[in-house]
Amino acid sequence: MNFDSLGLAASIREAIALAGYTDPTPVQAQAVPEAIAGRDLLVSSQTGSGKTAAFMLPALQLLTEQHPVVGRGPRVLVLTPTRELSMQVTKAAETYGRKMRKVKMLSLVGGMPYPVQNRLLKAGVDILVATPGRLLDQMQSGRVDLSRLQMLVLDEADRMLDMGFKDDLEAIVAKVPETRQTLLFSATLEPNIARLAQAMLKDPVRIEVTSQQARHENIEQRLHFADDMGHKNRLLDHLLRDAEMNQAIVFTSTKRAADDLASNLNEAGFSVAALHGDMKQGARNRTLQALRRGGLKVLVATDVAARGIDVQGISHVINYDLPRQAEDYVHRIGRTGRAGKNGIAISLANVREHFQVKIIERFTSQAIPVTTIEGLEPKQRVHTKPSGARPGGRPGFGDKKFGGAGKKFGGAGKKFGDSKPAGGKPGGFSGFGKSNSGKSFAKPQGKPAWQGK
Ligand code: AMP
Repeated sequence: MNFDSLGLAASIREAIALAGYTDPTPVQAQAVPEAIAGRDLLVSSQTGSGKTAAFMLPALQLLTEQHPVVGRGPRVLVLTPTRELSMQVTKAAETYGRKMRKVKMLSLVGGMPYPVQNRLLKAGVDILVATPGRLLDQMQSGRVDLSRLQMLVLDEADRMLDMGFKDDLEAIVAKVPETRQTLLFSATLEPNIARLAQAMLKDPVRIEVTSQQARHENIEQRLHFADDMGHKNRLLDHLLRDAEMNQAIVFTSTKRAADDLASNLNEAGFSVAALHGDMKQGARNRTLQALRRGGLKVLVATDVAARGIDVQGISHVINYDLPRQAEDYVHRIGRTGRAGKNGIAISLANVREHFQVKIIERFTSQAIPVTTIEGLEPKQRVHTKPSGARPGGRPGFGDKKFGGAGKKFGGAGKKFGDSKPAGGKPGGFSGFGKSNSGKSFAKPQGKPAWQGK
């Protein structure tokens, strides 16, 4: 099947061809014709499946026809859980709509100054992409008129519910015309999503995508067990120096940990930045731009901040901390293997976190192969029963063993998986050798380097 059979206008097909797409992905092939026919949709599809185009192409198709009522209010509203995803969706709309005349798109998210937003809203908008909080704000101050709305899209609806946007969603939906068409996209169709769908959709077509990409079969998953934080850091250092690594996103569970880890990796000589929700929007945008342009090799991020990042250069996702929720695992690993490429997702788990790994494996119905690197194997046995370890916590964080061993491990340039830790590696971040600033990075008796800061 190609894009000609989906019922899209020539101007949209032209833009799709310019984007380099030849065939619709499975979710696009199923969703686009139904949406163009005016049906409500309940779609379960993972990030990376091409879901954005699955709703944006029919949205643009709608705009090829004139609205019966003249006005400045949006005709299409896309709600997303995060700013990053919102901007990503707006960018996609611009890409697919670039051969159409006069389509105005606007991303309405927190962090953007109100005067700028107010001016843009006043100028009129066709496709509004927004996070629920900021949209409600602007609705309450009378700056957004949803009376002309024809299509409502809930993107990553499961995540919006997880983030506590249920009331906001209901308040927004109460203000949009009953006659609108609604498309709901979610990674999972759990009971809370089914309830939301029941309340907001009319006789929806249900689409469940089980494409290879949706099942992340293009992403090789690996699991390394670590004895303690020192061991985990040595593994991370080794992985980041792997020759196959182009760019990596390293996930931590807290904003503070993201900052600390980024700072340590920076000292170890990596081109690295942190990305989390405490950063100003401008800084977040600059960081993402640097990542996109290839100026950054490593991004240390929290779950929420990394949501929706679509950078094709990301060859590796590394779970430095395991995700708190199994579902986040799926979102994390979906940051690699973009646009049909292959990706590698590596989880670093403490030997006491076996139980959490099992929860993730049950959720994805896939076992994550345990992998070892010669010379960096765990010395402790894996605890297969839940113990006193803090679930979801940071086992070993503050572990006095950090940097306690005196060996120098390297391994730069070696092939992943079969490499031996090579000789000393100045600048190694793993707590051995010297940092870039020349001072000893970790002392056997001292505090872990990232605790002292
Ligand atoms: P999404 O699931 O919407 O985040 O899309 C994942 C990636 O797939 C994005 O980089 C898109 O540009 C790309 N993509 C979407 N549709 C297609 C297609 N039909 N052919 C090739 N790449 C696509």
